[in-house]
Amino acid sequence: MRLNSKWNRRGFIGTVGMIAGGILAPRKLFSLSRAAAPVSTKVNGFGHTGNPYEELGVTTPINCEGTMTYLGGSLPHPELEAVMTMAGRHFVNIHELEVAAGNRIAQMLKLPDGYSALVTCGAAAAIECGLAGILTSGDEKLIRQLPDVSGMKSEVIIQKSHRNPFDHQLRSTGIKLVEIETVDELRAAVSDRTAMMHFTNFANDAGQIKVDEWVKLARQFNVPCMNDAAADTPPVSHLWDYANMGYDLITFSGGKAIRGPQCAGLLIGRQEMVANALLNNSPHEDTIGRSQKVGKEEILGMVKALELFLNEDQDALAKEWQARLELISGEITKVPGVSTSFFVPDIANHVPHMRITWDQARISLTPEQASKTLRDSKPSIAISDGEGKLGLAMNSFMLQPGEDKIVAAQLVTLLREHSA
Ligand SMILES: *Cc1c(COP(=O)(O)O)cnc(C)c1O
Repeated sequence: MRLNSKWNRRGFIGTVGMIAGGILAPRKLFSLSRAAAPVSTKVNGFGHTGNPYEELGVTTPINCEGTMTYLGGSLPHPELEAVMTMAGRHFVNIHELEVAAGNRIAQMLKLPDGYSALVTCGAAAAIECGLAGILTSGDEKLIRQLPDVSGMKSEVIIQKSHRNPFDHQLRSTGIKLVEIETVDELRAAVSDRTAMMHFTNFANDAGQIKVDEWVKLARQFNVPCMNDAAADTPPVSHLWDYANMGYDLITFSGGKAIRGPQCAGLLIGRQEMVANALLNNSPHEDTIGRSQKVGKEEILGMVKALELFLNEDQDALAKEWQARLELISGEITKVPGVSTSFFVPDIANHVPHMRITWDQARISLTPEQASKTLRDSKPSIAISDGEGKLGLAMNSFMLQPGEDKIVAAQLVTLLREHSA
């Protein structure tokens, strides 16, 4: 598989160069420029209204919850859409494109020496193919054998409090998770069966061993370690912080706050591990990752999304997001008994949030009822019921222009309707 990719790389570039330089160029039979035609196209039939969701009868809520996969993650920048359209106008060797895009991303993020990146179809896929790369070291027979791990290291160590739904992507490689809580337990758990130590970034506070100590211990035991930081940008610096800390592999979602293609993610890590991850992934067949196909559109889109994300003024955006919340707060606190407070989660969705509470003696409505009513209203508003923490919770970073005013007005109407 490795040989194949090297051959493709040289062969492909060589052929293109020969055609362009030697055969077609002097005769100028037709333009060699293959620039894409303009993106806007008149749509007939499905999509002709400009809102194909509505044509299917599917609701498109105003999003006060943030970058939730079940709501479609995030909305792409128009320049990203343009690049993804350009991507669909050419054929390309996907393995070659993956390597080139990974190199570009590593440069853009100024990753430490010896680090590279791979565009996957999401952070979950990055977890799975990253671990598969470690288990198989790029050995073709072992790659085909997964999820049967006989003859390979077969255990991944994780802190008990770091277990989460995405460790399914570790288990799906065939490994067994070994849960520990203390450093002593970790020490006792490490053996020649240990393939990797896994860290769940958002669970940093919950676990006894913190993010910086975990990687130091991994170094000490000479065990590769992964950090799942899927939803942990902003800040932008997290894209390189964990590599600089020494993590061997780090995963990010492309379709959350980075606002990349919805079905894209990033595996950042040591060059050889990243290369081995790619060998366990689509387009390579008879691999565990073949079900996680990444398209040329997503690969180019991810490069563009990162460029746009790095160039954004994050402070200005945070101010804008806070201003939207304050606009809503200003309106709803005019309703007697309603109060608001602001907070920013330390990690994961590290953006301004607002909690909305009310005196239940004056307004007879539970947060669950409020959330459900807003969801069923027109336009529909997706807003968290606060998950049992008294009051609604919302953020504003996925709101589109003008939606803050709509949210304020609908909240005021709802709260007044239930006021005594
Ligand atoms: C969202 C998320 C994932 C999965 O990311 P996708 O890009 O949707 O595949 C994995 N881990 C954590 C902690 C997440 O928040």
